[in-house]
Amino acid sequence: MRPLALSPRRVMDGFGFAVRGVSPTVRPRSAEEVAEVYARATAEGLTVGMRGNGRSYGDAALNRGGIVLDTLGLDRVLSFDAAAGIAEVEPGVTIEGLWRHALPLGWWPSVVPGTMLATMGGCAAMNVHGKNHFHVGGTGDSILDADLVTPGGETLRVSRDENADLFHAAIAGFGMLGTLTRIKLKLKRIHSGRMKVRQVPARNLAEQFEIFEREAPTADYLVSWVDCIASGAALGRGQVHVAHYFGEGEDKDGARLLDPNRQDLPPHILGVPRALVPKILRLFNNRHGMGLLNLGKYLSARFGPRSEYLQGHVAFAFLLDYVPNFRSTYEPAGFIQYQPFVPKEAAPYVFGEILKRTQAAGMPSFLGVMKRHRPDDFLLSHALDGYSFAMDYPVPRAGREPLWKLTGELSDIVLDAGGRFYPAKDLTLRPSDFRRAWGQERVSRFQALRRQVDPAGVLSTDWARRVGVDEPRD
Ligand SMILES: Cc1cc2nc3c(=O)[nH]c(=O)nc-3n(C[C@H](O)[C@H](O)[C@H](O)COP(=O)(O)OP(=O)(O)OC[C@H]3O[C@@H](n4cnc5c(N)ncnc54)[C@H](O)[C@@H]3O)c2cc1C
Repeated sequence: MRPLALSPRRVMDGFGFAVRGVSPTVRPRSAEEVAEVYARATAEGLTVGMRGNGRSYGDAALNRGGIVLDTLGLDRVLSFDAAAGIAEVEPGVTIEGLWRHALPLGWWPSVVPGTMLATMGGCAAMNVHGKNHFHVGGTGDSILDADLVTPGGETLRVSRDENADLFHAAIAGFGMLGTLTRIKLKLKRIHSGRMKVRQVPARNLAEQFEIFEREAPTADYLVSWVDCIASGAALGRGQVHVAHYFGEGEDKDGARLLDPNRQDLPPHILGVPRALVPKILRLFNNRHGMGLLNLGKYLSARFGPRSEYLQGHVAFAFLLDYVPNFRSTYEPAGFIQYQPFVPKEAAPYVFGEILKRTQAAGMPSFLGVMKRHRPDDFLLSHALDGYSFAMDYPVPRAGREPLWKLTGELSDIVLDAGGRFYPAKDLTLRPSDFRRAWGQERVSRFQALRRQVDPAGVLSTDWARRVGVDEPRD
């Protein structure tokens, strides 16, 4: 067998650049080439970890000591049924590639994360959720079927009817059961290129939950910004964004926004040229500066205009793509995103504790985002009937230990409440956390499927090794 044709060792980081890995990479262009990579890696005793566009914040798309299989060469939209809104794509197609294809035909991906730069393979492997998760579920809920190339040498069609156990484990299976090489999914019919958006201020955490519960039965999208620095009676204050689609014939002018060129992100944010925003954020990148920015944002939410406005789908969905290289704000040590998912009843207590403890430790999150979620039937999904709270924490320049100790304490509170975590955002979970979050029974079922499709234990990532997905084989 010929040796693997690898590109030179490439430096890759997690999106929060708090972790970095150097690996040889390989970029196959077909399912056959993927199978070839596995055959050769097996023969040479190498591990393979997959990487889409590297938008996971932590170490989920790194594989130090092994090969990284980069899926960006598999980037074709294979078919698009414009009458039914069904697309078949290769995994390296990005959300941007998909919406640019679909929008002029009157369709929009029914689930999108906060960045359009994620690939469909990465979204399926993480079962990505959007701001409409409470309403439509995650990426997996929109997938009809997929092809999975396994390290064991098979190409399997997986769906709710065919190889259903593998389907339910490969979605949200963080790339540990094989490479998804073709994904067929259903999109959402839209009648306008924009939506109706309202912003509702919340004076504290309790009001945030009240607004979510009140709006959820009718809203299409719900997401809230949380000021994680305010304390006392203002603990958890912020602003909930509520958005609705237009119905058929309701927005005559909106049809012209189905042209992708009219969806481009605006050149200014709050009057500041986009390119300058990271520089300005860097000036405020400390606890007091962020306290001021959060206060300013809250006051404008509380006392600014509250009328409904119209916003294009791209501007509404991909807020962080507005700010070029926003993560440079956190140089040089980088940042982590910590995102627990907590059952509905326990969320007010858990999120309140998180806010109080991070403030008491002098490490409040600089940015907080709350979303409402619903459960699904994917084996290791992070989805549940409850809320998530995504927080950005700068890694202290003096060393990561205090932050890791703090997140360990927070994780104990989350797990005591029956919560889960999201592998795409994680860099701090301990092996015991992984088993507690999903339960030994689910983890064992996942391991059994892994032994079936990957008998030689070829698949691995830094994340899987860290949290103990990658148990040593007998
Ligand atoms: C600014 C920003 C905002 C975000 N907002 C959200 C959000 O709102 N909701 C949300 O859910 N997530 C969000 N994310 C996280 C992001 O959507 C996920 O990390 C997603 O998986 C990234 O896709 P990717 O192509 O970059 O995958 P990568 O990060 O490269 O890989 C993710 C995982 O998928 C596996 N994988 C990749 N391709 C395949 C394949 N073809 N077959 C099998 N496994 C594969 C990899 O091994 C890895 O484990 C956000 C990220 C950023 C940077």
